[in-house]
This record gives sequence, C-alpha cells and structure tokens, in this order.
Amino acid sequence: MKVFKFGGASVNSAAAVRNMATIVSQRLDGALTVVVSAMGKTTNMLEQLVPGVHPASEHEPLLAQVRDYHYTIVRDLFPQPSHPVYNALAVLFAQLEEQTSRPPTAYNFDYSQTVCFGELISTTIISHYLNTLGIQNQWVDVRTVIRTDNQYREGIVDFAATQRNVDRLVAPILEHNIVITQGFIAGSADGHTSTLGREGSDYSAAILSYCLGAESMTIWKDVPGFLNADPKYFPDTVKIEQIPYNEAIELAYYGASVIHPKTVKPIQNKNIQLHIKSFLNPDAPGSIVGPFPTIRPLTPLYIFKRNQTLLSILPKDFSFIAEDNMKTIFAALATLNIRVNLMQNTALSFSLCIDDNPLLLAQLRDQLQGQFLLRYNQGLQLITIRYYTQDIIDRIVGSRTILLQQRTRTTTQLIIQ
Ligand code: ASP
Ligand code: MG
Repeated sequence: MKVFKFGGASVNSAAAVRNMATIVSQRLDGALTVVVSAMGKTTNMLEQLVPGVHPASEHEPLLAQVRDYHYTIVRDLFPQPSHPVYNALAVLFAQLEEQTSRPPTAYNFDYSQTVCFGELISTTIISHYLNTLGIQNQWVDVRTVIRTDNQYREGIVDFAATQRNVDRLVAPILEHNIVITQGFIAGSADGHTSTLGREGSDYSAAILSYCLGAESMTIWKDVPGFLNADPKYFPDTVKIEQIPYNEAIELAYYGASVIHPKTVKPIQNKNIQLHIKSFLNPDAPGSIVGPFPTIRPLTPLYIFKRNQTLLSILPKDFSFIAEDNMKTIFAALATLNIRVNLMQNTALSFSLCIDDNPLLLAQLRDQLQGQFLLRYNQGLQLITIRYYTQDIIDRIVGSRTILLQQRTRTTTQLIIQ
C-alpha cells in the first residue's frame, strides 16, 4: 500500500497531467492512494475570491481566469466535447460561483468553503483522465474522511475519527481500485469544509499514510529531492540522500520549504518511509526520510528566512526578564498567534525574531506597551545553518552585520541586516 502526493506544480498544465499519469501508470504494483493539490497557482487565485476580500462585483474577471485556466487544460486532455468530465466541472464551477457570491461571514470559514474548489476541480479532472487511459480509479471526497475541529483555516485533525473513516471508506476501495483524493481540504466537526493550512497537501498525504499503515509515501516535486539549500538562492546545492525523521522535523521547523512541518510526525510514528522525488526525473532515487541514524551525505544545511523583524522588549520598571514578565509576553504572542522564529534573553531585555507583519506588530505593541518598552528592526534575514563551521559562517555573512547569533553544537542561527 503506497501513497503518492502530487503538488500544484506537478499538475499545472495538460503536459504535466500527462506526465503525472505516466508516473502513476508505471507504478501500479499494489494498492495506491493518490493525493493531489490544486493545479498550479489556483489556491492563490481562489484566496482572492473569498467573500469579503474584494467586493463581489469585482469577482468575474478572476473567476473567468480560474475557469479559463482549467478549461484550457481540460480541452487538451479531453478533445471529445461529450466527455462526462465537462458535466462534472460545470457543476463544480456553478458551486464555486455561488460560493463566491455569498455575503461574508467569518473569514476562516469562508476561506475554506471557497479555496476547496481548487482541489475538488483538480482531482475531478485527474480521476476522469486516468480512467480514460484505462487506469481504473475511484474519486474520494476527502472531506468525508479527514476530520478536523472547527478552526477551518488551520484545522486540527481528529485522528480517531479520521481513522474510523479511513477504515470504513478508503480501505475497502483500495482492495480493488486506486483512490484519487484531495490534499489540503478536510471536513470539520460541524460538517463543513475545513483546510489544513497553506501547502497542507503533504500533511493530508501523511495523515492518510498513517491511517492506512502505508509502506511508503512519495511526494513528487519539481526538485530532485531534499536539497541542502534552496536552489533559488544557492548555486551549488547538494542532494541529501537519507534524512532521519527528527532531522526532517527540525529542518521543516527552521523553515526548509521542501516539506510541510506537520508532515513528518505521523509518518515517523508508524515508521513509514517518506520519499521525495522529482516528477521530471521519476526514476532517479530522490531523497528518503526514514529511521536513519544520521543524514547522508553529512553536509552543511542552509535555511534562509527573509522579511524578519527583530524585536527587543524591555520592562519599563527595570525589573529583570524573569518568569512573570515572560508570562505576560508569551500570553500576548499566543493571543495574537505570532510564531517566534528565534528568542534570546538577557537580564534586562528579551529579543524575539518574528516574520515581518506590521499589523500584528502594532497589535503586540498595544498589548505590551503599558509594561514594556519595545524596539524593533524590520526587513532582516534569519539564517539557520546546521553542521556549520566558522569558515562557512564567515563566507555566508560576508561584510554584513550580525544583530544576533545563537549556537548549539550542531546549529547556528544568525539574524543579519
Ligand atoms: N493547494 C494548496 C496550496 O497551494 C495546498 C497545497 O498545495 O499543498 O497551499
Ligand atoms: Mg502546492
């Protein structure tokens, strides 16, 4: 039993869908669940169509863009105009149109009811396409399978309910058929659509892998595997062949974008191997996250986070930064849902690195300025280097100023101007 996950870039054109179908057709040795994201950048477009984001009167051009994008792909894949895929899509687009014309309610709720169409449409197209190629499969509405709470935009998964649904609805199909289903979306406790957070399809595949006890999960990507740095910013990347589970969790936590941070834990709990492979070169070995003692090859790993704010918080009464002050600061961060990327304290001040967000920063200042003095510096870079040497640090930093640095035996983090 295997689980494949195809992201937006792997199905962003008719040629990409054909390539994806070839990858599946060449790997039909046993039960298979295929999790698919929205095509290309569809989710970004749908985010603009969430009721309340723009006036409904401005929706039509964007809706037309979403429709045209998908129909260009569909007409290429299904030249026969009477193909049933056209009816299925007409229903989905009518529902999408109706959803985007509803009056706004709570944003997170409206968000999930709207963006879910990206995945519903992509999987409908792909399921029909595989069927026409003779790759028999069954489309499953994952909203009946993965259950979350009612947080809607960052739903928390109810694994017990999800497990029951997988056993009842997915496992029996897999005895004789391939399952095609959506990433990213789920069903809330209240019976509506919820979502798992941006880039959440990896996590969907991990949840299903966990509940199905899969032998392996494969993420098909546009990179050859897990690289030691983002090739967009780094000319000479090294592909990591083997990554221990905990190392992958650490890297995702520090901001490595190759996998969604929540993905690894369920996989690790059941000792399932996670393959990261290139859909452009599917026979190449890629990278494997698994029960390995160390990464191989052992090489420095770089994670760059741009647009960072370094915030210094000082008690106005010159008291020390001790538990009671920390409690106040953390309570404010927690209520505003601000994620801290790095923190450090001295006797008199507490420093935090967070993503640039002027709106949240102003709200944090409002909450804290009675008791504390806040100073900040925006537009910084946070660099994390695992398996560093001083030589590497010097080379990366160059002539720039280091505002803050932390080191453990394996990892250093630098905030740089
Ligand atoms: N389509 C969603 C997004 O773009 C989920 C995903 O691709 O993983 O964030
Ligand atoms: Mg994606």
